[in-house]
Amino acid sequence: MVDFGTDYLIVGAGAVGLAFADTLIDEDPDCHITFVDKHAKPGGHWNDAYSFVALHQPSGTYGVNSLEFPSEKLDTHGPNKGLFALASGAEVLAYFEKVMNMRLLPTGRVDYHRLSEYRGKNDEGEARIVSILNGEETTIKIRRRLVDATFYQTSVPSTHKPNFNHSGDVEVVPPGALPELWKRGADLPDHYVILGAGKTAMDTGVWLIEAGVDPDQIKWVRPRESWLWNRNFTQPGEQFFEQVISMQIALLEAASKAQDGAEMMHILGDNGFYLRIDEEVEPEMFHFATISQGEVDMLRRIQNVIRKGHVTAIEKGKLKFGDSEVAVPEGSLFIDCTASAVPFEARARSGPLFRKDEIVLQPLHVPIVTFSAAVAAFLEANYDNDDIKNALAAPGPLTDTPATFPYSLMISMMNRSAWAQQPEIMAWLASSRLDNGGPVIAKLAAENSPRLAILEKFRAAAQEHMPSLVKLGMQAKAIHEAA
Ligand SMILES: Cc1cc2nc3c(=O)[nH]c(=O)nc-3n(C[C@H](O)[C@H](O)[C@H](O)COP(=O)(O)OP(=O)(O)OC[C@H]3O[C@@H](n4cnc5c(N)ncnc54)[C@H](O)[C@@H]3O)c2cc1C
Repeated sequence: MVDFGTDYLIVGAGAVGLAFADTLIDEDPDCHITFVDKHAKPGGHWNDAYSFVALHQPSGTYGVNSLEFPSEKLDTHGPNKGLFALASGAEVLAYFEKVMNMRLLPTGRVDYHRLSEYRGKNDEGEARIVSILNGEETTIKIRRRLVDATFYQTSVPSTHKPNFNHSGDVEVVPPGALPELWKRGADLPDHYVILGAGKTAMDTGVWLIEAGVDPDQIKWVRPRESWLWNRNFTQPGEQFFEQVISMQIALLEAASKAQDGAEMMHILGDNGFYLRIDEEVEPEMFHFATISQGEVDMLRRIQNVIRKGHVTAIEKGKLKFGDSEVAVPEGSLFIDCTASAVPFEARARSGPLFRKDEIVLQPLHVPIVTFSAAVAAFLEANYDNDDIKNALAAPGPLTDTPATFPYSLMISMMNRSAWAQQPEIMAWLASSRLDNGGPVIAKLAAENSPRLAILEKFRAAAQEHMPSLVKLGMQAKAIHEAA
């Protein structure tokens, strides 16, 4: 028996589902939306984050289109000095609660089933939702589409299951336990071992050093070295306009000079657009993490880096890597940063975004996930059929390595150039706060500003170098698909 009907059932009230709904509710004034989410509050993984977590990108272009983050200021001190301050996890969570409670629910066109799980469809094609706390099942007739807003499968330290064992006499904690150390009085670890090479591990290293831990007391298990985006070139707003566009031009020029993705990264690294912690080790990872030069300088102070691959087991005084082992001080505290924020290998659901009775939200401009979801909602509401929508929304792959990065860059640039042919999309982007370029370009155009000259440079670079990017991109696609 059907309990009620809705036009769109969105599975996942995280950043992506909310960004999609926020745009759809404006672009399609007739639609009704229902959210289902296992969490008790909107915001997805931000509910489970460690206390010192922060957004990686400035919040000026994150979240949903209709609501700005509380006022943004430039940091005046610390490793992020001169750049936009990074919203804390608590701020991000409060923001998403506001989106749900003060923006979406008051429209009267949105229902929200929290603490509920989507369990697929029954034989009649109706959606099954089960309450997590009382097991009660609700069936929903979906009049238009099911929207899968769980594609990214974000995994965070507090909820993931580590893939190493450890004996009962060693202490393994998530990063969230570190701010609690003050409660232990004199019973403090004499060494800290960071496990993992991603952005959470980097944030943990910065946190430990800023908290006063001597870098010589830290060991860091880094299976792979990573290229990192220099945060200087990802800043929103007018004052950083030239910096942002210069990075886009640099990407195109690098594609033209390089033989492969790895060489492309080196060219961008030599020009300061990309950073890395250890310049002696060839990076084998690129997960689009963003960092400031100040943070990199701080992390370089940690000299005890263990490069033996993935930890398989931890015992008192030793780390095991398959058959080999490395001695560590017995009183070490092991900090598990091995959750993959976005599991780059998870491609099970990749494919067209618009699929008959379903939309699977994926990146259109990698890795800008909320912007991509808002664009998908705009396409859903304003274009007639799935062939046209999919032609404007090639799914961007979540590439894992420098070698495969040109594939995701190629798709992002191809989507952008397809949108540039559509006046209605360009008009919408001009007022979209999630688009780093759109509103700034619109404002400068209205002022007839000479600063727009750099856009001409970008257009010329795109014309000249796009064929090279496509060549590199196709080569990278083959590597990505074979992995
Ligand atoms: C520390 C950190 C910082 C980050 N910083 C940035 C950044 O600066 N910029 C950026 O673009 N990205 C960033 N990311 C990437 C991040 O993945 C996105 O920002 C975004 O929050 C992901 O949102 P989501 O909605 O895809 O996923 P989630 O937050 O995981 O939300 C998915 C939701 O779906 C629900 N769900 C799943 N399956 C079901 C089911 N069967 N039934 C019901 N509910 C279900 C889950 O409960 C969850 O609430 C960051 C990630 C981390 C971990």
